[in-house]
Amino acid sequence: MVEEQNIGAADVLIVIDVQNDFCPGGALAVPHGDEVVPIINRLAARFRHVVLTQDWHPPKHFSFASSHPGKKPFETIAADYGQQVVWPDHCVQDSPGAAFHPALRIPHAALVLRKGTNPAIDSYSAFYENDRKTPTGLVGYLRNRSLQRLFVAGLAFDFCVRYSAEDAKREGFSVAVMEDACRSIDVEGSAAATRESLTALGITCLSALAAA
Ligand SMILES: [Zn+2]
Repeated sequence: MVEEQNIGAADVLIVIDVQNDFCPGGALAVPHGDEVVPIINRLAARFRHVVLTQDWHPPKHFSFASSHPGKKPFETIAADYGQQVVWPDHCVQDSPGAAFHPALRIPHAALVLRKGTNPAIDSYSAFYENDRKTPTGLVGYLRNRSLQRLFVAGLAFDFCVRYSAEDAKREGFSVAVMEDACRSIDVEGSAAATRESLTALGITCLSALAAA
């Protein structure tokens, strides 16, 4: 679709969390996460509109296993807003791990949206915190700029990319996930579950490489 249809003024690439902590050597490394960087750089060059998201937690964030005595990373806890996976400490505000991967080169990105800043709520989606009610403001930004067709890439496919794409679809945007410009954490079958869920919601999975 990317090659068949010209990328236009109403299209936007949303690049999810391409940060050091989600790449090999980082605190919450997504296997082969760094492989998306050159793919996304090339893809982004085709878009006039690009939004970057950045996971950006205060120290002792609620989503960290270290904030819950006795809990280990990748276990779940019962939060007020439902089940929450707890993670290794990651993407602490202004830390090197929270910085974008140094090879990410998207100088024309107009918005960097930071999420997960609320100490008590995690935020997988670029649109809503994990309570599913608190908006980040991204819907307003996109609508205000008349951006209608969203292409989503980044890390991780089965968490923040998934939740962002699904929320965008529910908000009425046209959404495609650039699957080969994503990598998965794959906790307990989460990658396969993501493919099923995206398909069920009518979200297209496309290849960035095929379009290059
Ligand atoms: Zn996080």
